[in-house]
Amino acid sequence: MDSARLLLVIPCYNEEAILHHTYETLKQYYSDLKSQGLISPDSKICLVNDGSRDRTWEIIEDIARADSSIIGVKLSRNFGHQSAILAGLEHHVEEFDCFITLDADLQDDIHAMTAMIEKHREGAMIVYGVRNDRTSDSWFKRFTAEGFYGLMQKMKVPVVFNHADFRLMDRRILQELGNFREINLFLRGIVPLIGFRSDKVYYKRLERLAGETKYPLSKMLLFAWNGITSFSTFPMRMVLYFGFINFVMAMAIIGYIVVSYLVGMTVPGWTSTLLPLTFFSGFNMMALGLIGEYIGKIYEEVKARPRYIIEKVVHE
Ligand code: UDP
Ligand code: MG
Repeated sequence: MDSARLLLVIPCYNEEAILHHTYETLKQYYSDLKSQGLISPDSKICLVNDGSRDRTWEIIEDIARADSSIIGVKLSRNFGHQSAILAGLEHHVEEFDCFITLDADLQDDIHAMTAMIEKHREGAMIVYGVRNDRTSDSWFKRFTAEGFYGLMQKMKVPVVFNHADFRLMDRRILQELGNFREINLFLRGIVPLIGFRSDKVYYKRLERLAGETKYPLSKMLLFAWNGITSFSTFPMRMVLYFGFINFVMAMAIIGYIVVSYLVGMTVPGWTSTLLPLTFFSGFNMMALGLIGEYIGKIYEEVKARPRYIIEKVVHE
């Protein structure tokens, strides 16, 4: 079997402190992979500058001019991690056989790529890199990150636990990914939806070698919120549940109000104030939830996700 042409896509946002190191490390690793015949000699590395405000782009340009296996892509502004990955991938769909996405700080152990490529050769179309050891993360990062995956699973977002964006995808997967037209593309949730044969590779998460995290808490929360709201109508369903409970409770309270009125245990005005107040607040909440249900349906429709993906057709 011919070895596959691999494209490694790396999003870079203000990574001047680490880029040279990353490049040197990957260059060495790539030449090892090539000499072992695991990847084709025309495999390349694509560095995507996601609107950095430091010298990241100048560095990428220098590297790409000097080394023909490096492709530099510059986005017009900061579009965020997910979009930067997607730009690098989509721009090269037809030129390579398989794709691996990796962070610029090399926190994800690059040596797991060998196992990914082997699994791809054995027929896996997607190979997820999964962190099974986070001892290098601070307890806070570990706690929030694992809370994130737990919450996503509770909300029925189909994420792979402890898998970030370190993954291998066959070209076919990218072609199918192109049919997911939504703007808020949350890759960790979408990729498992594509289907096909997949596999996992486990590795230990390492420390960032230089520079700072580009995902402070505020960005992490926003990311999690985006992930939930672009996959799940669960929060809206909760409003409907609460609304229903509210309505039932309102009915009980109304019973109490009416009985109090009949037995004459009320001051004037009490019944006429409390009765409509209770009724309408219970009713309101339920009506809101009901409207939410319809908005949820609209939201599913506007995303226009493919309803099915055909893997193969066999006849005669
Ligand atoms: N990144 C990006 N655009 C952004 C934020 C981050 O392209 O707006 C890149 C960043 O350069 C890195 C990757 O996304 O390659 C992951 O970021 P980071 O390592 O800071 O996140 P952490 O590992 O701390 O979660
Ligand atoms: Mg990192």
